[in-house]
Amino acid sequence: MTEHNLFKTGAKIIERFEDNNYEGYFVGGAVRDYTLGRAVSDVDITTNALPDEIETLFEKTIDVGKEHGTIIVLMDELPFEVTTYRVEGEYTDHRRPDNVFFTQHLKEDLSRRDFTINAMAMTADMKLYDPYDGTDLKARIINTVGTASDRFGEDALRMLRAVRFMSQLDFELADGAKEAISQHAGRLDYVAVERITAELEKLYRGINVNSAKDMIAATGLKSHMPFFKHIDKVQYLKSRAQSLEEEAVIHIYNDSLSAHLSELKLSNRQKMTIKQSLKLLEDLKNEINIKLIAYRYETDILTSVNVIINNNELLSANHKEQLQSAIDMEPHLVIHNRNELAVNGNALMTALNARGGPWLSVCLDTIEQEVLLENIENNESEIINWVNSHVTNEDGNIVFTDGR
Ligand code: ATP
Ligand code: MG
Repeated sequence: MTEHNLFKTGAKIIERFEDNNYEGYFVGGAVRDYTLGRAVSDVDITTNALPDEIETLFEKTIDVGKEHGTIIVLMDELPFEVTTYRVEGEYTDHRRPDNVFFTQHLKEDLSRRDFTINAMAMTADMKLYDPYDGTDLKARIINTVGTASDRFGEDALRMLRAVRFMSQLDFELADGAKEAISQHAGRLDYVAVERITAELEKLYRGINVNSAKDMIAATGLKSHMPFFKHIDKVQYLKSRAQSLEEEAVIHIYNDSLSAHLSELKLSNRQKMTIKQSLKLLEDLKNEINIKLIAYRYETDILTSVNVIINNNELLSANHKEQLQSAIDMEPHLVIHNRNELAVNGNALMTALNARGGPWLSVCLDTIEQEVLLENIENNESEIINWVNSHVTNEDGNIVFTDGR
């Protein structure tokens, strides 16, 4: 889906609003990114139509937060988040407004948004409506809408969003915003971990991670971030990571912070990636045979750890070479997983005339390793020959004759 089509399809929604005497505009991140010439992956729309009216106007809608004014409208099978113009009530918990109020004025909706660069709207024919005339966007500065201290006080997540945008857009943070973050950093403690982690993931996918990390350390946000609060500041500023997972791996390896990883509430997949990466680092340190390393780890783990150890001083030059050889060797391994082994458990039981038992997995592990190291050829008769000369069935007990 090209973004041209995204805006073109979104324009149909706006035109439907206008045909029914409502207003509709593209808004927020999509307008910002379009104006900057950046790729746009999702397009949000804002309107003075109320949620019930939105549902009546379109055939396919999904209620994702009607009480806050947000409905997903499907147009030509594409989802668009459509939100009623709204203003927010008091924030007594530094997280969420106590109430939201719908309004008829675009300007009021834009004034509740976090940063000036995110408070722009655009018509269906791509004409910009920007109360700030693009001043901060041109100067590449992240500035809050209204007084920084108030805005960060209302919703503490905005502080992390500010540094996330620094990384994503390679923008500077306005001095006033920096001061206000330094003042309010402690309020991040009120924010749900999942929201923090989501911002951090975006931060690490950005193009200027270092500037964001410098700001996180300088303002004291780091001391209020799950997991990160335990990382030594010097180590944090020194490390070079291309993802949140890589950052975790570096500091768990260096500073034994594994007990604190759960604070980030990562997905099982992310946790598995971190665990595997740490295991690989241990295997490299223990100088495990490189064919075994190439076999044991998925390509993305091998390449990610390769990036980690090249950008950070975690292991010696010799270990780096070992990992590079493992990566180069991976496509040329005799087998890539156990299914490619020319025998399976049944074949072994038949050959030894034995029933299954713990011996079977020991035997398969051994064969797998010997085939991988090219000590046995991967064909059934070679393997059975090897088994017959290394393993015997002594009255139903399977024993390795070489004392394994
Ligand atoms: P991206 O989609 O690249 O993450 P975005 O700017 O679209 O960036 P979203 O989180 O999708 O960010 O939010 C959409 C818009 O909603 C923002 O551009 C901003 O106008 C507004 N917004 C989001 N979060 C907040 C917040 N915490 N406080 C105020 N306004 C917000
Ligand atoms: Mg968005």
